[in-house]
Amino acid sequence: MSSITLQERTEFQEALRKGVRAVCSKYPDSYWRELEAKSAYPEEFVNDITQCGYLSALIPEEYGGSGLGIVEASIILEEINRSGGNSGACHAQMYTMGTLLRHGNKEQKEKYLPKIANGSLRLQAFGVTEPNTGTDTTKLKTFAERKGDKYIVNGQKVFISRTQYSDLMLLLVRTTPLEQVTKKTEGLSVLLVNLKEAVGNGLTIKPIRTMMNHATTELFIEDLEVPVENLIGEEGKGFKYILDGMNAERILIAAECIGDGRWFIERATNYAKERIVFNRPIGQNQGVQFPIARAHVNIEAADLMRYRAAELFDSGKKCGAEANMAKLLAADASWEAANAALQTHGGFGFAEEYDIERKFKETRLYQVAPISTNLILSYVSEHVLGLPRSY
Ligand SMILES: Cc1cc2nc3c(=O)[nH]c(=O)nc-3n(C[C@H](O)[C@H](O)[C@H](O)COP(=O)(O)OP(=O)(O)OC[C@H]3O[C@@H](n4cnc5c(N)ncnc54)[C@H](O)[C@@H]3O)c2cc1C
Repeated sequence: MSSITLQERTEFQEALRKGVRAVCSKYPDSYWRELEAKSAYPEEFVNDITQCGYLSALIPEEYGGSGLGIVEASIILEEINRSGGNSGACHAQMYTMGTLLRHGNKEQKEKYLPKIANGSLRLQAFGVTEPNTGTDTTKLKTFAERKGDKYIVNGQKVFISRTQYSDLMLLLVRTTPLEQVTKKTEGLSVLLVNLKEAVGNGLTIKPIRTMMNHATTELFIEDLEVPVENLIGEEGKGFKYILDGMNAERILIAAECIGDGRWFIERATNYAKERIVFNRPIGQNQGVQFPIARAHVNIEAADLMRYRAAELFDSGKKCGAEANMAKLLAADASWEAANAALQTHGGFGFAEEYDIERKFKETRLYQVAPISTNLILSYVSEHVLGLPRSY
């Protein structure tokens, strides 16, 4: 994208939006609603959006992807959520792949990236969180012991999404016990796990029912064998590799929240114009207008930070502060918009057929995952403002 003019890039982005919208228009509200009722995975949609090449936006052209930037990738996910859909079903493919792309060796990239790009392999699962350590990632207990040309993995993970619908999973494990490292961020490694081979051979997947349709699971790992050739990068350096991908993840999630926010505001505005109570549209009352208008203002402000972070990322500059701030602002704004939309719809906001309650639940997640609001504020306090570390 670097060799084209700004105008060409803007036109390209507009065409990209239109293309994603065209795919999404085949999957109306009723599609997502029915999936939620059945707790089913959007197979058809994910296959379609993959076949159209959108999920491989960040994979370089030499590996069969389209070699776009995070700005464009974020537009794709924004449009999915803007259409009423949920990128949560497939977003991990974009940022998880980055760890393999940046830190995998030549053989690993040649083996996996073209298949991920053409959709014959899904890399949608990313296993970090554990039940007993939560946000305190470096304390995670899942351990991989090297024995010859294999790692023997034992441990447990929780809230690992899409494992039942993915072929591959990036798994963060300890390879050196915490007591034996000088820095707690050392001694963690990233393994690429072939989920189809692992299930029944050391890996048990247990779905977790959540308030929204998110295909998240608990993993029980007992003597799971992973070939050493599936180690990504160097042993013991995994935490750094995972952190690398986190700015991309924050920016992409921010864009999803922007998409959600715009969807809520459009629904709220339309409903407020149409719903007549006391012989006038409810949207004529400032008490109804203002929360929607305020949410719109905040979505637009968050969107500026999202682009600021994305552009820094694409130009290879430091963007940790901006990526975190974009995620926080966008998640707060989409949640505000969700509340405004629910309130505007009155009782009908709670009725499934209006889809507000579905999206309301979906967007609420982003206050907690993939990183909670408190942890972003801690990051800004410590790394931007220079305040003492609080934990
Ligand atoms: C639907 C869903 C899907 C998910 N998908 C994945 C996935 O695919 N892969 C994966 O690895 N993980 C996934 N997660 C896990 C998610 O990233 C974690 O839930 C999140 O990081 C918070 O960790 P925790 O739940 O253990 O909360 P905890 O770490 O127990 O924290 C609980 C609360 O305490 C607050 N808190 C903790 N410590 C501090 C502190 N020092 N200062 C201030 N506040 C603090 C947190 O902000 C949070 O609000 C998913 C979670 C959900 C709900």
